[in-house]
Amino acid sequence: MAYKHIELPKTGEKITVENNQLKVPDNPILGFIEGDGIGPDITKACLRIWDTAVEQAYNGKRKVHWAELYMGEKAAKIYDGDYFPAETLEAIQDLWVAIKGPLTTPVGEGFRSLNVSLRQELDLYACVRPVRHYTGVPSPLKDPGKVDVVIFRENTEDVYCGIEYQSGTEENKKLAKFLREELNANFFEDAGLGIKPISEFGTKRLVRKAIQYAIDNARESVTLVHKGNIMKFTEGAFRAWGYEVAREEFGDCTITEDELYADYNGRQPEGKIVIKDRIADIIFQLMLLRPDDFDVLATMNLNGDYLSDAAAAEVGGIGIAPGANMSDNIAVFEATHGTAPKYANQNKVNPGSLLFSGVMMLEYIGWQEAADLISLAYPEVLADKIVTYDFARNMEGATEVGTKEFGDALIEQMKGGIDLDVRRKQRSDKLARERKQREIRRLLQPMEEMIASGRTPHSVSDVMTRTLITVDDATSVHDAMHMMRQSNVSSLVVEPNKDGVWGIMTRRDVVTKIVKDNQSPTDLNVGQICSRPVVTVPPHTHLHEAANIISEKNISRLLVEKDGEMIGITTETDIFGAIEQFGWIPEPQ
Ligand code: NAP
Repeated sequence: MAYKHIELPKTGEKITVENNQLKVPDNPILGFIEGDGIGPDITKACLRIWDTAVEQAYNGKRKVHWAELYMGEKAAKIYDGDYFPAETLEAIQDLWVAIKGPLTTPVGEGFRSLNVSLRQELDLYACVRPVRHYTGVPSPLKDPGKVDVVIFRENTEDVYCGIEYQSGTEENKKLAKFLREELNANFFEDAGLGIKPISEFGTKRLVRKAIQYAIDNARESVTLVHKGNIMKFTEGAFRAWGYEVAREEFGDCTITEDELYADYNGRQPEGKIVIKDRIADIIFQLMLLRPDDFDVLATMNLNGDYLSDAAAAEVGGIGIAPGANMSDNIAVFEATHGTAPKYANQNKVNPGSLLFSGVMMLEYIGWQEAADLISLAYPEVLADKIVTYDFARNMEGATEVGTKEFGDALIEQMKGGIDLDVRRKQRSDKLARERKQREIRRLLQPMEEMIASGRTPHSVSDVMTRTLITVDDATSVHDAMHMMRQSNVSSLVVEPNKDGVWGIMTRRDVVTKIVKDNQSPTDLNVGQICSRPVVTVPPHTHLHEAANIISEKNISRLLVEKDGEMIGITTETDIFGAIEQFGWIPEPQ
């Protein structure tokens, strides 16, 4: 393809895509857009750092061949006033992978933000933001090391679609009339109106990408963030479609959080990723209180917008938060901050955001060793308190340096030699320890864990009593009653009789079969008054279904059975208690 102003380096080879997989040569051509304002300063510093990391990690066997692409003010100069040249878009499509600095949105009527245009033109539907703490970066959290999530935010739908009608306009009146008269909607007279489209297609491609990322990076869980308790047919649908894509397309390597408790007793099986969901407002709280509960988050556009910045603030602010916008295969990595024009060309600002976007890019093309080298050398530089002005403000005894000098310090660290294997092992040991601790909490205190982790009960195993008291047929009713009173339970499970049938003896049996019939509890044994067969359900039986069985069979408790064993008992009182405490969201019919 012939470009007018773009020159692809002759020495490099293009990345290709086969069967939806990137094929990356050892000398790939990657695109970079310098950006406006502080863009040139940070880009210059980062290109040197990335190149050094690759050189060090692969002893010169691999090398990125950079192709400069143009957008923003630099493009306007070269392309005669065109801020958004068509050939830049073509080049990104041709190269698949590019990285960009921040861009100024030209001021004036009719200009769309260049970033928004780029996302729309290339259908970059997933905004990916890893949020992770690097030792030494100032943070407002007590234990920021626990923050390590990757947020996948849907980029094309939701209230950001721009389908909005200003109060008082003809369009607004027309829509308001339709909504009131045809659909019985009720709202204030002068309301501005906006539409929130959330589609199955848009949701599934986003969640699919998040799950695939979790699989490729051996992550523990994917959390669907939504406000489905209020907006059932948009946010609730996002949740439902999210679970559906997990079940239908990744069924062999995912389990739901309900299954984790119901089928695995809280012990996460090797190689399975847990799919869970959390209400959007609760996730903000949990990301502060229990950030290590979360790994990969899949969100709609608006929730993700808030959440990405809030989470970034936990680990050092947007000054160092990296990001990328992706389609199925095209990925454009970018600094998440703006052009900070007051600092342009002063060699002053923090290159962190663009730097770590480059780390993401190296990971994306599979060059993990080079990415790790940067991630591991970075805290060493911070430990020496060599930082740019923004961190120096919050760090006692810091040596403030410019953008270039920060890059020099990082390069020196990487060249000084870092034992990648030792550091990686330390990190994976730490993650394994944390994972074990979470598992122990789930195993030992399932109900407390449910309350603290923002999970709501769905299945009988979430609310069942796990400690069962078992007797056999021959036990006298008197002894059984004594056991019930001592243990403060209202029923006993009765071992299978000679036909292998389980039974249950309840307080009610004593009232109706002993007291009412004028019998003596010492004369009768459990086998004579217990009920058989018992009604059993598997652990993942939904509470709605359990309630149906209880009502149809006119009973007040269900035994929970797994692999022929009774593992718990769920009563009307348990269900009542859970609903009273957690509320009840009716399931979509
Ligand atoms: P901004 O450029 O992000 O700057 C806001 C403040 O953030 C700066 O004054 C500075 O804080 C801090 N900051 C930003 N980048 C930093 C860095 N690398 N190192 C240290 N501190 C950094 O936001 P803005 O002033 O609202 O926007 C300026 C222009 O950027 C606008 O034209 C906007 O449209 C554009 N923009 C582009 C993108 C993008 O291309 N992705 C994103 C957002 C905004 P202190 O003043 O406290 O030092």
